[in-house]
Amino acid sequence: MPAVVRVALPVPLARLFDYLPPAGGVAVGSRVLVPFGRKKLVGVVVASGVEAAVAGARLKAVLSVLDDAPLLDAELMQTLAWAADYWLAAPGEAYANALPLALREPRPLPQTTEPCYALTVAGRSARDAGSRRGSSRALLDLLVAAPLGAAELDLALPGWRPAAKRLLDAGLIEQRTPEASPPTPSAAPALNAEQEAAVSAVAGALDRFQPFLLDGVTGSGKTEVYLALIAQALAAGKQALMLVPEIGLAPQTLRRLRERLGVPVEVIHSNLAEGERARAWLRARNGEARVVLGTRSAVFTPLPQAGLIVVDEEHDGAYKQQEGFRYHARDLALVRGRALGVPVLLGSATPSLETLANVEAGRYRALHLRARPGAARPPQVQIVDMRAQRLDHGLSPALLAAVAEAAGRGEQALVFRNRRGYAPVLLCHACGWHAECPRCEHPMTLHAQRRTLACHHCDRHAAVPPACPASGRAQHNPQGQGTERLEEALAARFPGVPVLRIDRETTRRRDAFEQLLHGLQDDAPTILVGTQMLAKGHDLPNLTLVAIVGVDEGLHSVDFRANERLAQLVVQVAGRAGRARKPGRVLLQTHHPDHPLLRGLLAQGYAAAARELLVERREALLPPYSHQALLRVEAHQRADVDAFLAEAHAALPDDAALRIAGPMPAPMPLRAGRHRGQLLVEADTRGPLHAALRPWQHALAALPSARKVRSYRGRIRFPRPEVGQWADASLYKASPWTMPRRFPTS
Ligand code: ADP
Ligand code: ZN
Repeated sequence: MPAVVRVALPVPLARLFDYLPPAGGVAVGSRVLVPFGRKKLVGVVVASGVEAAVAGARLKAVLSVLDDAPLLDAELMQTLAWAADYWLAAPGEAYANALPLALREPRPLPQTTEPCYALTVAGRSARDAGSRRGSSRALLDLLVAAPLGAAELDLALPGWRPAAKRLLDAGLIEQRTPEASPPTPSAAPALNAEQEAAVSAVAGALDRFQPFLLDGVTGSGKTEVYLALIAQALAAGKQALMLVPEIGLAPQTLRRLRERLGVPVEVIHSNLAEGERARAWLRARNGEARVVLGTRSAVFTPLPQAGLIVVDEEHDGAYKQQEGFRYHARDLALVRGRALGVPVLLGSATPSLETLANVEAGRYRALHLRARPGAARPPQVQIVDMRAQRLDHGLSPALLAAVAEAAGRGEQALVFRNRRGYAPVLLCHACGWHAECPRCEHPMTLHAQRRTLACHHCDRHAAVPPACPASGRAQHNPQGQGTERLEEALAARFPGVPVLRIDRETTRRRDAFEQLLHGLQDDAPTILVGTQMLAKGHDLPNLTLVAIVGVDEGLHSVDFRANERLAQLVVQVAGRAGRARKPGRVLLQTHHPDHPLLRGLLAQGYAAAARELLVERREALLPPYSHQALLRVEAHQRADVDAFLAEAHAALPDDAALRIAGPMPAPMPLRAGRHRGQLLVEADTRGPLHAALRPWQHALAALPSARKVRSYRGRIRFPRPEVGQWADASLYKASPWTMPRRFPTS
């Protein structure tokens, strides 16, 4: 057998590929161009000088080596191999995912420096004279404060490039090389005792791996703790990586990092132009970038001089990638911290149950911030019992009175409802007919303004019928309330107060959300109606009342994580109230005022409710106290689903450690015209489950019945069942610490 190089290629196959080495050899971690079928692909060398797995005659040779030195260092190579194995991915897709798109092309690496843009004298006068409009004007307004690079402009003004071209041509702006000397850092506030204790605990571990949970409500000063620690890492000559769940939260954090640290901060996120993303990634790899702030995918940034990793809002579901190569950025951050030998700081006001279980087991150290330096008293939360109440479009008298009071004081009120549209059901009272999606057998949501019925499961749209198709009666009755209906009801009820709806429909345009939020900074009374888009850390200083409606659905979900998410959502939404000097009030409207979760949450807060939920998980043998893998498939014919799942069941090893539930219909047995079924495999410990999954995955692909089904996750479908069918609950969420401690070597 000849010596070959083993290459990870971006194809959805759970294997690596062997090629004859190029003259002069090639190092592990370098990119190579290789023939693959009739195509040429860029791959990453994962092993060199190894023995071929197939006979020499069939081997093709590497076409060219793209990197003189390895692009991916040993730590990233090891972490990616681990991740591909842990999340049952096609290895090549894991490597491809780690590289910015521009680096997956067979081209030389881009230059890492890029000029920034600044106003000229003429530009300043043009701006003062207000002679430009639209995006040109917005760009001038941005640059008047300070010159900005392309990465920052991507963040602040998506689509800025045509405007920049126009202004450059007109001589109103110019390109400069970036400033050599960054701004002088601004002074940090004196930390309080709890912050001080948190900082010194983490600082004491700056040279080794240790996970920490920084548990503190919004406004308790977590960001100040991150800043102090990042400053310490910088002072020690190290790099820091900070992850945030959403790009919407990045600008304010970026500003604080820049002002405080006085060093350039790289941002890496999905709105970034590909060239920028590659440049930022390379600057981190060169060590030029000292601080990297980014969303989920930034967890793959090379950190040759790593000193600290921070994951803010660690409980947030946005850290979970659900398409293609699926991973959890928080868990991957921990794996990287271990490989790099640096502390990992997870921050949250509502930590995930997995993280709390790791604290309980002594794997993570918890640090608490209980005081709120910047804000007033915590908001006062109160349950509104809806039973036997006269409701106005689902709103109780107590809720309406509270809204009237807040508006009367000139303050803002938020009515939170996690459901878009006018009404979830359109019913005929005469005969009981309701509008249903024929492809999903679920009620269709009425969107009154758009005069359409929409299926929120498969996106099917239909016209609102003029009369009931069953009884012929012309009167329909919308049942239940969506944000659109609440907006209408509140506007009718409070004619003098502006009512603003914030959901996916009113914020379809890219910057619409930011603009809506911007208008809320001043002191005018406003009623907001919104979905969970409003739950995250946006600061609304004049918001003093939060009314949560429609939590009851969350209490009855089949998803075992529904209660946890509901508790987090309630606490996060409630945290929007009374952030500045004005005290806040929170109303929770429910038909189940005695539900233990709601009671516990209100009486004792999130920590106690989470402890209670963990006890339930332990008793029910649910993650994180057990481990699950879920196989889901769908097909046009129910029989094809059943046949495949029966064979899949039979293909599982006969291991007493595995508990198998199913085959059974999926929670939505029909969606978009396809029948869906699932098989759940559980084990008390991860070892036996994980050991069974890879062989099972290969066996499933070989089943003849596999050709008739597709795997899916949500709306995402996969052409073949051999890849990505693992809609595995625990593989995403549970901590990696239950995995074998050793990294796999290939
Ligand atoms: P979190 O990240 O937990 O929401 P922040 O770090 O943003 O909290 O702090 C909330 C507010 O309180 C900010 O305006 C911050 O500047 C201020 N703050 C935090 N810690 C202190 C402190 N020790 N002294 C004075 N102000 C502080
Ligand atoms: Zn449908």
